[in-house]
This record gives sequence, C-alpha cells and structure tokens, in this order.
Amino acid sequence: MTSQTTYKRILLKLSGEALAGPNGYNIDPAILEQYSQEIKQVVDLGVEVAIVIGGGNIFRGVSGERSGIDRVQGDYMGMLATVINAMALQSSFEKHGMYTRVMSAIKMEQVCEPYVRRRAVRHLEKGRVVIFAAGTGSPYFTTDTTASLRAIEIEADVVLKGTKVDGVYTADPMKDKTATRYTTITFDDVYEKKLSVMDLTAFTLCQENSLPIIVFNMNTRGSLLKLVQGDSDQGTLIT
Ligand code: UDP
Repeated sequence: MTSQTTYKRILLKLSGEALAGPNGYNIDPAILEQYSQEIKQVVDLGVEVAIVIGGGNIFRGVSGERSGIDRVQGDYMGMLATVINAMALQSSFEKHGMYTRVMSAIKMEQVCEPYVRRRAVRHLEKGRVVIFAAGTGSPYFTTDTTASLRAIEIEADVVLKGTKVDGVYTADPMKDKTATRYTTITFDDVYEKKLSVMDLTAFTLCQENSLPIIVFNMNTRGSLLKLVQGDSDQGTLIT
C-alpha cells in the first residue's frame, strides 16, 4: 500500500458494454481514452492494477443461442470477444505510458501471454497493469466470476466493479426515483434483499473468501482514484 492509498492491489472489473459507449456495441475510442486516464491516475500512485474485461459489446454466449449458435460455442465466442477488448485496452494503456500485459485463459501465443498465476503476480509487483482475457477459459461462466476468481488467486485487496450506476441501490434507480444508495452493505443483506451486484457464482466466491467488493460508477471522472484513496462516499462497499 502506498502512503496515499487504502488498497495495494486491486482487481477492476469492466464490462464490455461499458467500452461501447452510447452505441452499445463495438469499442468507442473516447471511452478507451477516458478509462486509460482514470486508470493511469491510480497506477501513478503505485497501486497494482489487474483488470478483467467483459465481452458483451461484441458477443454474449446466450445471445448466440437465439441465432442458432450452440451455447458452448457461443460462450467460447464470448471469451474471444474479451480478448479483443483486452487488446484494445492494452494498446490504449501503452499509449498512456503504462506497461501492460494481457494474459489469456485460452492460449493465443501470437497475441498475448497464457494466464499463469505466478507470472501475473510478478507483473503486478513490477508495476505492470495485467489484463485477464478470455474469462475463466470455460463456458457457462461470466467475466464477473472471472473477476472474483482472479482477484482471489492474485490476493487482490478488493474487487472494484465499475458500472454505469453509482453503487447498489434499494431499488433500480432508473425505474424508481425514491431508490437510495447503500454506502456499505453486507454480503448477507445483498443476498437476502435479492439486490443485483454480480451473478451468484461470482458473488459467493467473494463472500466465501472474505474479499470485499465495491460497486461504483466508472463513468464518473475521478471516482476510481477517490476510491483507492479511501473515500467512503464513492460507490457501495460490500463486506
Ligand atoms: N464467457 C464464458 N466463460 C467465462 C467468461 C465469459 O463462457 O469464464 C462468455 C459468456 O458467453 C459471456 C461472454 O463470454 O456471455 C462475455 O462475457 P460477459 O457477458 O461476462 O461480459 P460483460 O457482460 O461483462 O460485457
């Protein structure tokens, strides 16, 4: 941990859809630029940053089923989509002077390293940003589950789930104007109140391993930086 930060090593989960910007698909260069700036502020503080990126802006396994694509095949296509997003992030990060490694759960030696836990940890110790691509490498999982799994493996201090909303609300803030945001909440309460944070596999992994999750708005400028500096008014902390 640096003198200015609460967390030494973070796992940041970004959805593929977030990269798409207003279009909802493909990769928006303006979002890439914005995210690179946000992440650089944190890297410059000496925080070790690992990232799991989704693939929903390009392909989702379940959506494939509707178009006649077998679920397992669709899931692999979704995992490949995350590699495309990871490569885009890497390129943008490098333009901003951040040393970055993409590590894929599916071997693709020409484009990125295979995921090896010890090597990932070594990269982080050297101050490199590590982007975990291709999810868990197995169908029927999600990139949220990948985020929980990798965070536990690399012993991250926290999972930061970057979303389009400011945290976990009592109800859907898009539909219910009276909804209020929790600043902190327990895993048990999230479960009992059936609040949506992550899919159950991802959520349970964090709970069983006492790994805190913070849900926050990745599109609010400076929010990520404030979070790692310990500003408890950013997002919702789940412990
Ligand atoms: N996926 C998978 N196994 C994994 C991670 C992802 O099969 O371990 C597939 C799944 O089809 C998923 C797609 O990859 O729909 C894209 O990931 P996700 O939907 O989690 O991306 P996000 O919603 O974060 O953009």
